[in-house]
Amino acid sequence: MGKDDDVYRLIETAKQFHGHICPFLVLGIKASVIALNKLGIDRAEYKESVGEEILAIVECNNCFADGVQIATGCTFGNNSLIYADIGKNAVTVVKRGEWKGIRVYVDAENIRSKYFPKDVLELFDRVIVRREGDEKELEEFRQLWEDIGRELAGVPEEDFWIKEVNVKPIERAPIFNSLRCSVCGELVMETKTRKDRDGKVFCLACLDHVHSVVGRGIEHFNPFEVMK
Ligand SMILES: [Zn+2]
Ligand SMILES: [Zn+2]
Repeated sequence: MGKDDDVYRLIETAKQFHGHICPFLVLGIKASVIALNKLGIDRAEYKESVGEEILAIVECNNCFADGVQIATGCTFGNNSLIYADIGKNAVTVVKRGEWKGIRVYVDAENIRSKYFPKDVLELFDRVIVRREGDEKELEEFRQLWEDIGRELAGVPEEDFWIKEVNVKPIERAPIFNSLRCSVCGELVMETKTRKDRDGKVFCLACLDHVHSVVGRGIEHFNPFEVMK
């Protein structure tokens, strides 16, 4: 019972963070809560987030990943969220030092066939995939999508694929010196700089060699136009 209370409370917090309630946001919360419970630990609070004591490894960057951040307390910014660029709806939670993690995978096909009404999937296809719906249909879809999301809070553990995994030790975020780029004049983490033969420092933006996390995952992509 306590578990489900947690999930309902987390859904409200997640709504503020994510902007809306949707099925995979809730599944990210559920999967995380399952993993935390199996490990016998709580969401990362002050000590754990400062010390990076609990790590969450996500394999996708979608709604699911926001559910994970809210439920585990492991975020992009506190260095406790590890993004593995694999493209699966899965989260692994692990305690630093123990490195025996619990990985929870969500099989979208299975969840959809069991919990998503067929007419909602058709509406999804029209409104979201083909972008053909009108404003009224879009609003109707939003509400149905949120309703399904809330209902998924009750999905039983048997619908998730849960296993123990060995996680490689992951270093705590190191603190690096900063160097100043000779082109843009800005400070940049030393490990992200390149030097030419004369020891002149360049940042990766000025070299136009940037990797970014975009919708497709990690791509060799510089979001900024380079001034020539
Ligand atoms: Zn969402
Ligand atoms: Zn620069």
